[in-house]
Amino acid sequence: MSETIFSKIIRKEIPAKIVYEDQWSLAFADIHPQAPTHVLVIPKKPIRSLAEATEEDKELLGHLQFVVAKVAETCGLSQGGYRVVTNIGSDGGQSVPHLHYHILGGRPLDWPPG
Ligand code: 5GP
Repeated sequence: MSETIFSKIIRKEIPAKIVYEDQWSLAFADIHPQAPTHVLVIPKKPIRSLAEATEEDKELLGHLQFVVAKVAETCGLSQGGYRVVTNIGSDGGQSVPHLHYHILGGRPLDWPPG
């Protein structure tokens, strides 16, 4: 199991601006926001990325997507829209090897990403 900075946030060993928490997941503000609203939704289970999720994680993955939509609504993004991104591996630009969904919103976002 991988120990990352997100493990420490889950255990509340380092501070984060938490916007949602339940038994399986946590959502907190990104420390380097790329949009007016930039929140990360993570499972408490230390899955390294979406690519490393297993059959037994299917229910958890569904729950995380539900939480993403709920958190986006709570953050006031439902009307204007928003983007959900999960980076995977080095080409995907993943820097923290603990599955996370970025919620980005609050301004028009360019497409395609770089
Ligand atoms: P990735 O590049 O892996 O897709 O995204 C990792 C994200 O985690 C980055 O957007 C980065 O700013 C954020 N991040 C890294 N360390 C911390 C931290 O200690 N606290 C918070 N809140 N976000 C972090």
